Amino acid sequence: RPNSPEENATLLARRTASFAEVQEHYYEAPPRIERGWREHLVGVDGRVHLDMVNNVTPLGHGHVGVADAVSRQLRRLNTNSRFHYGAVVEYAERLAALSPDPLDTVFLVNSGSEATDLAVRVALAATGRRDVVAILEAYHGWTYASDAVSTSVADNPNALETRPDWVHGVDAPNPFRGVHRGADAARYAPEAAAAIARLAADGRPPAAFIAETFFGNAGGIPLPDGYLAEVYAAVRAAGGLAIADEVQAGFGRLGHWFWGFEQQGVVPDVIAVAKAAGNGYPLGAVITTREIAARFRSQGYFFSSTGGSPASSVAGLAVLDAFRDEGLQRNALEVGTRLKHRLEELATRHPLIGAVHGLGLYLGVEFVRDRATLEPATAETAAICDRLRELGVIMQPTGDHQNVLKTKPPLCLDDDSADFFVAMLDRVLTEGW
Ligand code: PMP
Repeated sequence: RPNSPEENATLLARRTASFAEVQEHYYEAPPRIERGWREHLVGVDGRVHLDMVNNVTPLGHGHVGVADAVSRQLRRLNTNSRFHYGAVVEYAERLAALSPDPLDTVFLVNSGSEATDLAVRVALAATGRRDVVAILEAYHGWTYASDAVSTSVADNPNALETRPDWVHGVDAPNPFRGVHRGADAARYAPEAAAAIARLAADGRPPAAFIAETFFGNAGGIPLPDGYLAEVYAAVRAAGGLAIADEVQAGFGRLGHWFWGFEQQGVVPDVIAVAKAAGNGYPLGAVITTREIAARFRSQGYFFSSTGGSPASSVAGLAVLDAFRDEGLQRNALEVGTRLKHRLEELATRHPLIGAVHGLGLYLGVEFVRDRATLEPATAETAAICDRLRELGVIMQPTGDHQNVLKTKPPLCLDDDSADFFVAMLDRVLTEGW
């Protein structure tokens, strides 16, 4: 492919001219990347970048198993899931088998937004209600219902003022910089439970409580111990359902567990998955009980042209095979634990690091100007990400203050790559940015 600097600049201008302006791209002057392999991204100039941000490809880029399965299937047959073929049955069975009892029934869709949207609609249909409780500062997607329950101001500065009246936010249970910190974080759950009880008393009992099972937008912070157990009990006592958004936290990223909700010792009523499920191929799912799924009949039928197509089903099966055969979850635990220790060691030398959040390969390095006031180091975080890119590491800010390094690399990350990231971050923090 042509790749002179002039041609790459022209290509960027063409992108700008043909894309809606709100569809942003990474970096002011993005490297043109046309290839990937494992945790590496390769620019057309031959430069190799370490991808520390891409949680859509847990198996790594250019995975041969997924590529072969999909290309073979595309040559053979691709159609919609109203036809009868083996792959979709096998995939639905394997997803159900991975899910705890009594979650045994699967809807297949194409993305995380579709999965959380459908999860909310399933809950509305199953309960005949219209109100939903969601955690503030969360992101669940861009479709109408998934956007409605998203309140992250990083994604939409008007989020709080523009939610529909059926969405009720409860405080972000962030023990580091939320309204309750440290040991006081135990107050988030009773307060959320009280908010649910108040809604019920006001004649608006919620259809559901939806939350990520590990707080992604805050940079991969575990929810306070017992949080989901208490809030799930409260929503169920009010006759509503517990929806777990596992789009980021699920599929082994936390290392110790396959599902994020296992970290909290709970079983939800509805699970939404995507991202990792297809390793970048569009695939998402809602997993729930037979009884809850049956109540969706009140909405007519459910159909998605490409959700659960033969190609997406074989992509999903190839991903599950790789999880079984390639030790990805164990790698997330081992490499992630070591990486977290090394980042914590950096924090002892660089006061800008206010905290290193997370577990497994779901980590967040939070930058603050002052460890007492926790003033977010937002501009510094942007500049550090730019400098890291110059040094060969792809990294992006996350969080409502955009002051956390979104450390969610492919789960095949090896120790050498993790060490390279730490060395480059150390260098930037030492030399300046
Ligand atoms: N839920 C969570 C927790 C997410 O992080 C995302 C994507 N960032 C979504 C849902 C939406 O997924 P998608 O982009 O595949 O629509």
